[in-house]
Amino acid sequence: MRIDDLDLRELLDLSPRGGVMRFAGERVLLWDAFAMGMLRRELISTLGVTAARGVLTRLGFAHGVRTAETMKTAFPWDNEREWRIAGGRLHTLQGLVRFEAIPDGDGSAGPLPFAQAIWHDSYEAEQHLIQLGQSDEPVCWTLAGFASGYLTHANGRAVMCIEDRCRGKGDAICRMVGRFKEDWEPAVLDKIQPFFEKECVEEALARLTAELRKTERKLRIRRRDLEDDDAIDAASGLVARAPAMRRVLDMAARVAGVESTVLLTGESGVGKERLARFVHAESARAGGPFVAVNLGAVPETLIESEIFGHAKGSFTGAIVDRPGLFEAAQGGTLLLDEVGELPLAMQVKLLRVLQEREVRRVGENKSRPVDARVIAATNRDLGADVAIGRFRQDLFYRLRVVELKIPPLRERKEDLLALARLFLGEQARRLGRKISGYTPDALGKIVRYPWPGNVRELENAIERAVVLADGERIGENDLPDEVQSAPPTALPLGSTRPLDEVERDHILAAVANAGGNKTRAAHELGIGIATLHRKLRQYETEVSRRM
Ligand code: ZN
Repeated sequence: MRIDDLDLRELLDLSPRGGVMRFAGERVLLWDAFAMGMLRRELISTLGVTAARGVLTRLGFAHGVRTAETMKTAFPWDNEREWRIAGGRLHTLQGLVRFEAIPDGDGSAGPLPFAQAIWHDSYEAEQHLIQLGQSDEPVCWTLAGFASGYLTHANGRAVMCIEDRCRGKGDAICRMVGRFKEDWEPAVLDKIQPFFEKECVEEALARLTAELRKTERKLRIRRRDLEDDDAIDAASGLVARAPAMRRVLDMAARVAGVESTVLLTGESGVGKERLARFVHAESARAGGPFVAVNLGAVPETLIESEIFGHAKGSFTGAIVDRPGLFEAAQGGTLLLDEVGELPLAMQVKLLRVLQEREVRRVGENKSRPVDARVIAATNRDLGADVAIGRFRQDLFYRLRVVELKIPPLRERKEDLLALARLFLGEQARRLGRKISGYTPDALGKIVRYPWPGNVRELENAIERAVVLADGERIGENDLPDEVQSAPPTALPLGSTRPLDEVERDHILAAVANAGGNKTRAAHELGIGIATLHRKLRQYETEVSRRM
């Protein structure tokens, strides 16, 4: 059997009622060319031209390989050469293009290509023109992929086909040129080879990730613009109504604009990581990674390789080369949390990296440049640690170019309810619960509990309450025991708090003291029951306003 004997009526096996269709025994689909054109447009708009071309080239390549495989055994070929050169004819029979072989020339125009052909009526050029208009480059990517795949499989050697003319870029016809991979000029090969490999998709993904970060940043700014209260940065989960916190946040916004190392101090749980994320998000590095490590949680023997990376074989268990966190934070921000826990030997190394802006992986002789902004955080008194020789003075000064001291939650009572609302909103969204606020009793408990574990304790308590609550509001019983048994009298109030807040806390405390009995609470407060109800409704509205 020869190429000319191939007849579509024999190759195609279809039932008049549809269902399964076969081409040379393999299942095929009738697929609308216009729909393929739409897929192409989607791929280009989602991934960009380079990655879309890669995907479609490899799709065509796989189709070409499959066709060659199938056809090899489907027919009693007179000789193997007939099968090897049947790709173009099959492509035509499948309706993708009309193939016209170009006879070999006399070689006067330099080394002859391994294969060349003219393509008439390329469905792909037609669809590209319809969907996307004229291109600057050839566009018949699946066709070129098919030719490459068929010829590669049939010859057992890599063949790469491209177009040097294409209807899609305004030429009268499409012309395909194929050469063995090693016969392409290196400069051309560099250009076309990526389309046959997956790398161009990875590049596109990297680009998409960068785009996504930019979009996230824009959304963040937009979300803050929408927030009617400028003391609340919902995107970072930061609230700064309390003057002491306001100062910290203002300062953080200012230092975000410069590259200085920042030291965040404050009790455990005050929100150092949130503030570090805020500094990162407000900085020019916002498009880069934010990497955080808790040095108190990393075993001492692993700290060095964790931060600086290691070379394969540098210690038992180092089975591959691994970059450290400094390299992972390249172009972004590295948060070294609980930096006070760093062993002295590591303190020397960290200081060197900060000064020289280079890291050396464990077990390697060469240094690698790093570009990461360092934010350090600690709940220890590093000054005292320096005095007793537990922390290096030179590193302390290097880290503390700017120090931001976050006040404990008990010193920022003005922020308490706004934080409680913010966390309720976050957790309810995250857990998919429809919870709109707190009961007055629960608010009373939240206000009066001293929160020794600070913002983290508050956040955990609210997460737990959102999980436990069975109504639309969080009640007193949904709060942890220690919060429920908060002292019945309000804590001493700061003298500078707004009067309405003092009144609110006092009223909520009175209701809680009366065990939720509002008539008794109203009596003890010396106000009418209607007034009490109105006040309580008002507090609830304030709470649910942001949900
Ligand atoms: Zn073309």
